[in-house]
Amino acid sequence: MGVNMKQNLGDSSFLIATGNPGKRREFEGLLKPLLDPVWTVFDRQSFPHPLEEVDETGETFRENAVKKAVETALASRCCALADDSGLEVDALGGAPGVRSARFAGESATDQENNRLLIQRLEGRVHPNRRARFVAVVCLAMPDNAVARALLARRGLTFEQVSPAAPRAEGQLVRVGDVVLVWFRGTLEGRIVDEPVGEYGFGYDPHFFLPEQGKTSAELSREEKNRISHRAVATRKLSSFF
Ligand code: IMP
Repeated sequence: MGVNMKQNLGDSSFLIATGNPGKRREFEGLLKPLLDPVWTVFDRQSFPHPLEEVDETGETFRENAVKKAVETALASRCCALADDSGLEVDALGGAPGVRSARFAGESATDQENNRLLIQRLEGRVHPNRRARFVAVVCLAMPDNAVARALLARRGLTFEQVSPAAPRAEGQLVRVGDVVLVWFRGTLEGRIVDEPVGEYGFGYDPHFFLPEQGKTSAELSREEKNRISHRAVATRKLSSFF
């Protein structure tokens, strides 16, 4: 595919940098206020040309989300939204953190990760089981019509955004050829030994939500999408524009 075609795509498309169509639908719903109905929304799978997977080599959720968004925006020439998420347990100094998916090893299953988590927390009782799910979402924008339309909602042109390190939540900055902004969302809970619930994925069956009186694996998809760390971060981004 030629360079011109990539540039034209960027002028009317918005890319959600995930290979998971379920996650894309969840984000698309949360981003409704941000997305102009005339734009076409893609995920990595539906995008018209192949996009390489971005390695998560960062030390923080923010570094990974920014890296994924920036690299995907540059490769696609489209405004790209990316996220990184995981579980932080206070008594484990924030582990498993950015290693949540591979806590028990590079290709660990959810079950193996959960088993290791419970082992590490042996002998600890509440409140030493406090934990939170964390998500960072980042929107990276190359200079195209979609980016200019979004920035105009904040009364800005592309050129008016200053170069800076992307350290502060909710601050528009220019990094090389893209403008970006990121937001963080959390969901507070605590880790329970016995898995409960059938919905969700990952650490959900061991993540107890005191306010709801159940684990996050007992929440319906709709309930979880309303209160999740991803929903909180994504809603912040939507209302920013
Ligand atoms: P990623 O953001 O897709 O890289 O997810 C990282 C890992 O964090 C997942 O594989 C899960 O182990 C964990 N995680 C993130 N969000 C959730 C959640 O909502 N429920 C359960 N586990 C989660």
